[in-house]
Amino acid sequence: MSTPVIVSIGEILVEFVSHRIGCGLAQISDYSGPYPSGAPAIFVDQAARMGARTQMIGGVGDDAFGQSVLTRLSADGVGTRGVTVNPDRATGVAFVSYYADGNRDFIFHLTNTASDHFSVPEDLTDSADTFLHVSAASLGNAAMRAMIMATVRRVASAGGKISCDPNARPELMRDDAARDALFETMECSTCLLPSTSDLEFLFPDLSEDAAIDQLLAAKAEVIAIKRGAQGATVVGNGERHDFSGHSVDEVDPTGAGDCFGGTFVSLLSQGASLRMAGEMANAAGAIAVTRRGPMEGNSGPDEIATFLEHNSGGAA
Ligand code: ATP
Ligand code: MG
Repeated sequence: MSTPVIVSIGEILVEFVSHRIGCGLAQISDYSGPYPSGAPAIFVDQAARMGARTQMIGGVGDDAFGQSVLTRLSADGVGTRGVTVNPDRATGVAFVSYYADGNRDFIFHLTNTASDHFSVPEDLTDSADTFLHVSAASLGNAAMRAMIMATVRRVASAGGKISCDPNARPELMRDDAARDALFETMECSTCLLPSTSDLEFLFPDLSEDAAIDQLLAAKAEVIAIKRGAQGATVVGNGERHDFSGHSVDEVDPTGAGDCFGGTFVSLLSQGASLRMAGEMANAAGAIAVTRRGPMEGNSGPDEIATFLEHNSGGAA
């Protein structure tokens, strides 16, 4: 059996990161960027770095920001034939500023940019041989939601696989159309990548174990639970592996979840064991937070192996 092509669909953008802690986005600060970003793009970039065949579907403007992301994705081995270069709209942009307690403020310029105005090439991959990834935050945008759900249905009905990072933030869950799309995507997904807070929003009345049981009783075959600095748990095929968090200096946590997911799905799709995929993803997430910029913390197998040699933690 050939390994499937991992396809990620959704927003591509550049991000600017404030260097001042605690001042939010209303005050003048120094920023660095443009950093290539967008959760689906970070995920697929990491999946490619871990050795999978990949394609990105999304949009950028015909401008320097878009060029910077496309150059990065191509350099890391991501197929970009599915990226629309839109001459009439600018590339999406985000700004982020952190507080001392780890909270962050975002401003996104996404709606009505090239980020949510793209076309989906239906012949990009064979749907039956596709592992489609959906980062559910994209479903809050009506234009993208329509394109993503059409792709989810096409891949699911052709027998392809789907992974979903629920990103069940309150604003997403309050939007009925986004919420319905999230649940439909989760119901089609064999691989789910929730954080602990996603599980609390999705199943407020259930314990974590009960939520996992419910998801496994539906379509999910593999679930990875992301616990931030506390590490991660992976469950599937009757196995469960808990990984404690590696002790690292957290510089910029944005993108760690997508880096974790890209590592995990890439390795599983190439036939790695659940334990190996979880261990490498937990290390990749830890590496990701040590570098400023959401995609700058992505890494390849050699860096992750070296990190694991020098860092205890991991399997609990
Ligand atoms: P996002 O806020 O981008 O949605 P997330 O909630 O999806 O992120 P996290 O749990 O923050 O994802 O991070 C993903 C994984 O990265 C964790 O499960 C863990 O393996 C690793 N990780 C994240 N933060 C740290 C940290 N401070 N120290 C060590 N490992 C970390
Ligand atoms: Mg997340």
